[in-house]
Formats: sequence, structure tokens, C-alpha cells
Amino acid sequence: MDCLFCKIISGEVPAQVLRETERTLAFRDINPQAPVHVLVIPKVHVPNFAALAEHPETLAELAAEAAEVAKAEGVAESGYRVVFNTGTGAGQTVFHAHAHVLGGRGLNWPPG
Ligand code: AMP
Ligand code: ZN
Repeated sequence: MDCLFCKIISGEVPAQVLRETERTLAFRDINPQAPVHVLVIPKVHVPNFAALAEHPETLAELAAEAAEVAKAEGVAESGYRVVFNTGTGAGQTVFHAHAHVLGGRGLNWPPG
């Protein structure tokens, strides 16, 4: 399958990997939108967040890993955001589910 994130999991495409578990991989976003911008992905190929709901153990591990990344990157206290862009209309460009962990600066809400 021609999937960029599957290739990162297999090692075919290099990435700055921070953490790995049985079911997940965490690596730095190549085009960071905040001082801390890490992607946490399931090793199972599912296209988006909705499909991830069919893999509850993976989803739980992904949530725990996002929290661990925030701790390790020093933003657990100051606050961080976990985002799943879902669908092209929401800016999803890679159709292998991934959580963006964003932090390290003022994160205003609503954005913009
Ligand atoms: P999304 O737009 O929500 O689908 O997020 C895809 C993210 O993947 C973007 O933030 C990209 O900067 C990031 N990205 C694309 N290619 C790579 C890569 N080779 N390594 C790390 N991050 C990447
Ligand atoms: Zn994939």
C-alpha cells in the first residue's frame, strides 16, 4: 500500500522517532506548527479517527502515548492540544490516522 505513514512504520521513510509501543509510533512532524509538534500514529493502517474507534486497545494506547509525549516534551503542565484532522475539509492530507500533539506556546481557542 502506498501510504507514507506505513512507510515510516516500516522504516522505508526516515522520521525522528521519539517513542514506540506495540501498537503506536510517535515522531516529530516534518513541518511543525508549534514548538512541540509530534504525531502519534497507530501501527494498524486505518484511514482516519472514525475508523480508529474500531480498534479500542490501539486507541487507548494512542491516548496514553500522546500524554507521555506531552510529559516528555515538557508541555504537560503548560497545556497542549491533541488534534485529529478528519477529512480533506478539515485539512487531513495523510489518510493514515494520526494525532497531532501541539504545545509549547499560547494555544488560543478558537483558532485564528
Ligand atoms: P494532516 O494534515 O492532519 O493529515 O497531517 C499530516 C501531517 O504530516 C502534516 O502536519 C505534515 O507536516 C506531516 N508530515 C508529512 N510528511 C511527513 C514526514 N515525512 N515526516 C513527518 N511528518 C510528516
Ligand atoms: Zn498507512
